[in-house]
Amino acid sequence: MVFGICQKTKMDWIHFIRSNSHYPHLELFANNYTDDSFMFDHDYLEQVRAESIENNLTLSIHAIQGINLGEKVERIHKVSRDIVYETLVCGEEIGAKWVTVHLGSAGLSNIDKNKKYKRLDLAINALEEILSATSNMKINIAIENLVRLPPNYGKSRLFDCVEEFEYIFNKLNSERLKVIFDIGHARISSKETENDMSMFIQEIYKHICAYHVHWNNGFEDTHSPLNNESIKEIARFKHFIADDQPLLFECYEQRENEISMKLLNELMIQTR
Ligand SMILES: [Zn+2]
Repeated sequence: MVFGICQKTKMDWIHFIRSNSHYPHLELFANNYTDDSFMFDHDYLEQVRAESIENNLTLSIHAIQGINLGEKVERIHKVSRDIVYETLVCGEEIGAKWVTVHLGSAGLSNIDKNKKYKRLDLAINALEEILSATSNMKINIAIENLVRLPPNYGKSRLFDCVEEFEYIFNKLNSERLKVIFDIGHARISSKETENDMSMFIQEIYKHICAYHVHWNNGFEDTHSPLNNESIKEIARFKHFIADDQPLLFECYEQRENEISMKLLNELMIQTR
């Protein structure tokens, strides 16, 4: 197992790299997306690249939250697509391996399957356009599985279950399209769909480029640290996790990530 960490603070990237260099992979967060942000400053990005090489780190970027590739209002859809494109350009410049993307949400329940799939089609179109506009780049797009909301909620997230994974990857099969498998989100989705998390992973593990690691009570996406219950769950699919698929801790507090890491290290020793 290779570990990494997701930036959950508004720290600038170089500061974050310097303060966390004991993890071999860092997922940077594009939290300041404005014209004058460091994301568009070439000298700064060159420095980020140099720091990562010097510290022997691999990098990825988490695109800003709030974009919606499945949005039906055309202008919002296009802005979302362009932001993902620009984040890929930035990621390529710093030598990042992928950009993590939330596909977005729809103002309709999961019961309304046909309408939901139309929104997924919009997201697939946007991904196709982004992949084709960046075809000269090495960087991948990693779509993240999101929390599945209850049927009475009147809202749903795009790519919140294994069926939606199949729908997307049947329509769009690119070497550069990957999955970030978020274990905490999958826990909530598996409660909602009554599908087992290990089965979800068994279906998609070849497309996974990394895992987001956090836990919850099965209902609220609290980004809590792992506990004994979650370790039992992870033990069931541990054999699918390869060294080129880092486990990225995604709690808000550093000491919570340390708790998760300690439990995973113990699991490795026990099952060696
Ligand atoms: Zn995540």
